[in-house]
Amino acid sequence: MYPKHIIEQVLQSIDIVQVVSSYCELKESGTDRYRGLCPFHAEKTPSFFVSKSKQMFHCFGCGKGGDAITFLQEINGLTFTEALEMLAERAGIKLPKPTYGSGQGQTTQEDSKKQLYALYSQAVNFYRNQLNNTLTGKIAQDYLKKRNISPQIQNEFGLGYAPADGEALYRFLKSQGFSDALIIRSGLVRQSYKENKYYDFFRNRIIFPIRSIDGKVVSFGGREITGKEEPKYINLPETELYKKSRILYGLWEGKETIRNKKYVVLVEGYMDLLRCFQCGIRNVVATCGTALTPDQANLIRRFSSEVIIVYDADPAGINAALRATGILLQAGLSTKGVVLPAGKDPDEFLQAHSVEEWNELIENAPRFFTFFIHLNKGKKIHPPGKP
Ligand SMILES: [Zn+2]
Repeated sequence: MYPKHIIEQVLQSIDIVQVVSSYCELKESGTDRYRGLCPFHAEKTPSFFVSKSKQMFHCFGCGKGGDAITFLQEINGLTFTEALEMLAERAGIKLPKPTYGSGQGQTTQEDSKKQLYALYSQAVNFYRNQLNNTLTGKIAQDYLKKRNISPQIQNEFGLGYAPADGEALYRFLKSQGFSDALIIRSGLVRQSYKENKYYDFFRNRIIFPIRSIDGKVVSFGGREITGKEEPKYINLPETELYKKSRILYGLWEGKETIRNKKYVVLVEGYMDLLRCFQCGIRNVVATCGTALTPDQANLIRRFSSEVIIVYDADPAGINAALRATGILLQAGLSTKGVVLPAGKDPDEFLQAHSVEEWNELIENAPRFFTFFIHLNKGKKIHPPGKP
């Protein structure tokens, strides 16, 4: 733990109003108070208050409250120390090495998270290097070229390549001094008990690092590139850093634009999202192979109150859109939907059409009920949530 005077120094160097404002919109309400829609629960009338003089927040709706550290803990799912470190970084204060002793359990847990973050960050370097600087990476480069993903976007999202070899990452991580136990816990390497051998989870795949809301890589997705392997996309299993129901791909990269535009476009896949970003459309998030969850809907609500769903125009996409709509409405989000021309996904649409045409679809997106009726022309489907 850090000594008390350090914690106080950090808290005195920041302004809670600014900290909270980077997560939700606040309006002045009285000389000392700021008011906004609570980022922790769904509401239409603001009952979330921040006091500048007290440097505290409180929500009269859900009862959450505390100082800036509590706020960062709650909103980012951080431990006390992680939130303090985030604040200190923001304030430009260099923290002394924390002293361990009491609270051993928590410290160990935090250490273990830190080690995992460090391992993932090295794994990103490894995959990037494989993609950009090796002969074997050429096949992946060609693939990304064929899919028309620009080098800028590859850089911004840290795309990489997992070689087919099957042990290269394991050997690399060992050479960096990571223990077998940690490497196994990362999910990136598996152990075959039969042959007493280690093998990489991703082999011959394009790698998409997945970042949490504070920009740290917490997991990876991999897409096969030969056209022969199934499944096309695989994701790492959940770890102590990654609960897939609580992460949205692209949210960290796009959150500023989402807040400015006041709506977010929801797409299904990695490629859909990258295509949007490449076309300059940055208020987009993707669920990446999993059905939208209530936690993800709440995550969206921290940044915007309106969602426009653009899913694939095939039966699976339409069903997923309907399910997502139900969850978004329950989270109190205003929901619209875009139906793309038959058989197109957002990636294909934006490659075949201009951004203006895309914007036109988005601007004219019908509200949920019209969207629903449109999707169900001639079909007998019940609205989501109704038997
Ligand atoms: Zn609340």
